[in-house]
Amino acid sequence: MDLKITQARLPGRSHQWDIAIANGTIIDIAPSLLGTAITTLDAQGSLVIPGLVDAHIHLDKAFLLDRVQWETGTFTEALQETANAKRSFTIADIQTRARRVLEQAIAFGTTAMRSHVEVDPMIQLTGIKALLPLRDEYAWGLTLQLAVFAQEGITNQPGTKALLRQAMALGGDVIGSAPYVDPDPEQNIRIVFDIAQEFDRDVDFHLDFLDDDAPLLLPVVIAETLKRGWQGRVCLGHMTKLAGLDPVELAAIATATAAAGISVLALPATDLYMMARRDTHNVRRGVAPAHTLAAFGVTTGVATNNVQNLFTPFGDGDLLKMCTLLAQVLQLNTAESHEHCLAMATTDAARAIGLPNHHIAPGNAADLVLLNATSVTEAIGAAPTQRTVIKQGRIVAQSSCQQTLFAS
Ligand SMILES: [Zn+2]
Repeated sequence: MDLKITQARLPGRSHQWDIAIANGTIIDIAPSLLGTAITTLDAQGSLVIPGLVDAHIHLDKAFLLDRVQWETGTFTEALQETANAKRSFTIADIQTRARRVLEQAIAFGTTAMRSHVEVDPMIQLTGIKALLPLRDEYAWGLTLQLAVFAQEGITNQPGTKALLRQAMALGGDVIGSAPYVDPDPEQNIRIVFDIAQEFDRDVDFHLDFLDDDAPLLLPVVIAETLKRGWQGRVCLGHMTKLAGLDPVELAAIATATAAAGISVLALPATDLYMMARRDTHNVRRGVAPAHTLAAFGVTTGVATNNVQNLFTPFGDGDLLKMCTLLAQVLQLNTAESHEHCLAMATTDAARAIGLPNHHIAPGNAADLVLLNATSVTEAIGAAPTQRTVIKQGRIVAQSSCQQTLFAS
């Protein structure tokens, strides 16, 4: 065997386990494994989890705070200022900022990621041309999917549809849009599905975002998913409006979403920051109730979305900290709910973006993170710095933290 991890605690299982890895794959898990390995990693009773899967992030607009004006902090300002900044993006500039996120993410334990890449008449194909080479360059550390993304609308931006098709032809993995910024959101949704069918690719929408009075677009997406036979191939980010539904309405739409095989991602860092700006007191949270949706059979995840831009000024790309945030916002209070919360950043997030079998079992890829924690609750509680990251059986990152106290 190539790598043996000894005395590891695993999510959802009691006792300690040895894990044998060969040719990038987990080949055995047992309380005590015989045989030597080229490398042995003694977990000493610490927790090993599946690699973190950041199912929704924007590499092309990370780290923009030093070049934008921010006064109101509103969504409208974020959209406008980011569009202004986008005009000066170059391939080298996008790659520099994207590398910073990718390398941090790998060190934190992210072994798979879906990044949206903006394509529109302003940025043209610069974003996709910048990120396509990084998909290969960083394959040693993470599996990167690129979702071609119309942030500015489609029907209101002549030429966008042709550019989206060109970006898919260049090698985009997934096609998506933000229908809420389009004056004809239903047509926007249909165009995205048309391109998905043309290229036989999965769909990813930024949907039912904000807290205005516009009707839910989720029923439209459900109908198109069923009509085109795209069950299991549609992922939706934000879905903040679901937080405003009463339990009966939520149960009905969650059941229909599950039946259509549509996944939902909560993006708490952005949504807590952006939602309910008109509330003068007792401010609503506006985060998709991922745990309730999961109870109705919806595949759910939690993801980063943005790193230090006007949509999300705070954060460092550590998905484990998003679990901490989600668990707090959704008031998850049992060990079982914490394990589910972690699954939303690992196994379930992977399933949401079309990566099956991302759990710790023989036959699966050895994408793992050893954390300085002895339980999932502790891992989510503290997001420990000390981590060892394994991608396809190879140690790709190790982080530690040195603290020194000078007592008098
Ligand atoms: Zn997003």
